[in-house]
Amino acid sequence: MSDLLKNILIIEDSDLQRKLLSRWVSKNGYAPIEAVTISDAREKILAENIDVVLLDWELPDGTGIDLISDILSTSPVGWLPIIMVTGHTEPEYFKLAIEAGATDYITKPAKEVELLARIFSALRIKALHDQLRETAIRDVMTNLYNRRYMEERIEQEFQRCRRHKSNLSLAMIDIDKFKNVNDTYGHEVGDLVIKRLANELKSSFRKSDIISRFGGEEFVILFPETGIADACRILDKVRELVSKIEIKSDANDKFNFTFSGGVAGGDLSAFETNAELLRIADKNLYEAKSSGRNKIVC
Ligand SMILES: [Mg+2]
Repeated sequence: MSDLLKNILIIEDSDLQRKLLSRWVSKNGYAPIEAVTISDAREKILAENIDVVLLDWELPDGTGIDLISDILSTSPVGWLPIIMVTGHTEPEYFKLAIEAGATDYITKPAKEVELLARIFSALRIKALHDQLRETAIRDVMTNLYNRRYMEERIEQEFQRCRRHKSNLSLAMIDIDKFKNVNDTYGHEVGDLVIKRLANELKSSFRKSDIISRFGGEEFVILFPETGIADACRILDKVRELVSKIEIKSDANDKFNFTFSGGVAGGDLSAFETNAELLRIADKNLYEAKSSGRNKIVC
């Protein structure tokens, strides 16, 4: 587990109970975040980086059990451990909660030492989950997002930006004559070129842009809330920077490499599906390649 302070979300409508849980949590080195209602809790889950949820059963605007599937599907990290803290002592309730997706169950009155042990266990599961998720969504060589994750994000961002009528642009880029690099300098140098490009992409784009290694020497970048013209301008600047990177081969030869790019998107009202975004970006990339390379086509 990382040393960052862990955020424990306490969803409880009884002031007395909530204050008590909050005190135990902070006394033991965690950061308590309090919510009184379900809608309150929803906001906190989206806004804060929650690690464990303590969830009461009866709440003013519904039951905690209804919130469970909501928590699991809306949490920004895909999943969260949920510990039910409830006055319901009947085993049927325990079964219901676990089947709904709760990780654990404590009956009131809770004891401090038991609560802490359950939180500890929940944090351990969360750490494993986060580690697995990181492995599943990253490209091993570059540590950029992988294709699987990118395809998910394109779909999500496409839906979100359409709903909010905001811009979304997508760029597909491909290293020029990459086969020549491999044939001339060997695969190790080829890998080095990919890593150098990945580093340049990481440091050049904005924090909100999503960068992935989509295939061998192909990368896809997603620009949320960004029109075509801005995406092209940013990408073209990166293209120029990259063309100046000097790579040294084993034989101490120095060489440069370039990439070509195709951009699609902007106002999404003309697009039927997110697959169209990729298709048009790919078509523009092809045009950039066939009209001389080292350029961006929008
Ligand atoms: Mg209650």
